Amino acid sequence: MNYMDFHCHLDMKAFDLNREEIAAEFFNSGFSRLVTAADPYEPGSFETTREILSYHKNIYCTAGAHPHGADRYTPAIEKAILRFLPESGAVAVGEAGLDFHYNLSTPENQLQVFKRQIAIARELQLPLVIHSREAEALVLQTLEGEKFQFPVVFHCYTGNMADAKEIVKRGYYLSFSGIVTFRQKKTDYLRDIVREVPLDRLFTETDSPYLAPEPFRGKPNTPLLVRYVAEKVAEIKGIPVEELNRCIDENFGRLCPNCPPG
Ligand SMILES: [Zn+2]
Repeated sequence: MNYMDFHCHLDMKAFDLNREEIAAEFFNSGFSRLVTAADPYEPGSFETTREILSYHKNIYCTAGAHPHGADRYTPAIEKAILRFLPESGAVAVGEAGLDFHYNLSTPENQLQVFKRQIAIARELQLPLVIHSREAEALVLQTLEGEKFQFPVVFHCYTGNMADAKEIVKRGYYLSFSGIVTFRQKKTDYLRDIVREVPLDRLFTETDSPYLAPEPFRGKPNTPLLVRYVAEKVAEIKGIPVEELNRCIDENFGRLCPNCPPG
């Protein structure tokens, strides 16, 4: 089985009634690892995330300032992130980056906060999990300008082929969500990208509670549905899903050398 959900939001209110049951079902089904992203802007997120981590040894977390909240970034938030990351044993800083699709914060503030997250990751020697919407070129340019040396994963990748190739060329990773299962012409480009990305450069994720894959599109998403994402990626690659999951596990091992085997 060995499915891995590289990115979900199990701390969110959508899971208040069943997060422990979902985590139990995830591991009882033989799935291997789950990474939940803590949100420093959301009161209680760090606490809930600590509780989630206690459910199972193969649950991991990340924490970082999402670009949506950049206008609300404060020194207190930064301090809280800096405290939470080592305390929780977080495996990466994020999600962090730029979102020029929604532009919920000004581009200037987004860039400034992104640079702070890069500095935090560098200080703590952690990988970065990137959120990028219509901003891949500037994200890549910023990582280069800041000379960031640790692993980088673009979560829920929706950028173009050229940027995907640049991400791979730099030794970074792409994580694919349920969007790869959507039966629409306009998502064909993403399946073309999946075909191109080498097996040692990719992850699967749900981004739940958002983005339920087919055949559950539009319904609530949970980490359990990552199998539909992985099955689609394996189908596109023309390999058995077990082989894909084995590669993903190795990729995670490179990201987190101290994490125990899945
Ligand atoms: Zn995101």
